[in-house]
Amino acid sequence: MAEEFVPIPPDMAHWIKLSSKELKIRQKDRCWASEVVNDFRENLLKFLKSSSDQPVFQSVEFLNTGSYFEKVKIHSPDEFDMMLKLQVPSCLCTTKLDPGLFYRIDLTRPTRHPIKDFLLENNRTLSSSKILTEMFRLIRKFLKTYRVPDRRCRWEVNKKKPNSPAVTLSLCRKEISGEELISVDVVPALEVQSWPLAVRNGPDVDNWLGKKLRQEIRSLPCYFVPKRQKGRKLGEDAKESWRISFSHIEKKIIKSHGNKKTCCERRDTKCCRKQCLKLLKSLIEGLKRCFPKELEDLCSYHGKTAFLHTLSARFDDSSWAPQQLPACFLHLVGALQDHAERGLLPHFFVPQCNLFATSVFPRKAQVFLVNVLEEQKREGLPLLKPPALLPPLTPTTVGGEVNAGELKTGRRAGGSRDEDVVVLFGSDKNGSGTAHVRCFGEEASGEIVRLELPGRRPRGGPKRR
Ligand SMILES: [Zn+2]
Repeated sequence: MAEEFVPIPPDMAHWIKLSSKELKIRQKDRCWASEVVNDFRENLLKFLKSSSDQPVFQSVEFLNTGSYFEKVKIHSPDEFDMMLKLQVPSCLCTTKLDPGLFYRIDLTRPTRHPIKDFLLENNRTLSSSKILTEMFRLIRKFLKTYRVPDRRCRWEVNKKKPNSPAVTLSLCRKEISGEELISVDVVPALEVQSWPLAVRNGPDVDNWLGKKLRQEIRSLPCYFVPKRQKGRKLGEDAKESWRISFSHIEKKIIKSHGNKKTCCERRDTKCCRKQCLKLLKSLIEGLKRCFPKELEDLCSYHGKTAFLHTLSARFDDSSWAPQQLPACFLHLVGALQDHAERGLLPHFFVPQCNLFATSVFPRKAQVFLVNVLEEQKREGLPLLKPPALLPPLTPTTVGGEVNAGELKTGRRAGGSRDEDVVVLFGSDKNGSGTAHVRCFGEEASGEIVRLELPGRRPRGGPKRR
């Protein structure tokens, strides 16, 4: 397949490269956060291993999944996921409850294994809600004695969400209530050796990563997380369902992403695949921030899935040369747009499950996504970057002096507390764009500035529909 690179306006190419660079800088910012999270992780593990009240949790191990460990975490250095692997007996059988994402898990014969405490009344079905409830209880118990290394902070357990497989915790500052510094999702997961029939063939990676890697992937266990199926009037099975998880394999694939083994091993064999994924996640975050209601069903996993499909089809390393980053990224955005347009985004590991099926992603939202992606491309991708990262652009004064009272109506962007400079965001008088207000000192007056793209006409964010 011949590669065709559509010419990209130079300022847009520059903007994409700049955004990518800034995401890299962001990554270095998370030292404090990862230290705090690692301490939490190690101590939770110690607690569970020594806790005699629930033997199933004594055998747990952490599985390093989630984007923090894939090194493609985007804006906030402060969201972490961890999967807690539970040992289960081998006499389990899985029955799918949909085309292949949700399952009922049953014991094939009675067992003395401590998992027996988590069965339903029928004495054979593993209850996902019982496991999750126990996880909540144990974490709350752990927090009663655990001390955060930074004494100014404490961990709080968030309220349970009906369709979430996670115990979500927030790190908060003791003296300021409500301010969340870090959030962590702890997800219990069952390790099952044999893959369900629906996913038995493994992902379509032969051309891209080779048959050998697919075999290797297939020899790995798969995981099930306690997630309830969505919908009303759920049957007993759906209430106690487990969802299959491939995050450990996604991590492996993203790590060894090259068509040739040498990809990204040396300077001269670098590619831009990971950067493209980071940028796409960044754009999705920006879209969700701007249109929380219209795009509430959109999540970063849609981006990751479109990315994996694109990599599988466009497998040649030379198609992802670093200098082609802008073109590759736009290609990826086009791919997501195309999936939304057709209302078809097969799950990468469970292709018979469509992540853009209208039952889980309404047609109206698909159309909205298509339009908003088109608009982003037309407008030069203004949402690519997080608001707090805007200051490095060239500010130009477009308004006169304003007083502190006016400034307070803007939204604090946060992050840019450099000496006494506070950057605020708010609508400008025309209501069409975003005025960026820079204020010197808490009390002092400031000036209204607009941030400009180098070589571009000043422009605001996308128009709301
Ligand atoms: Zn590479």
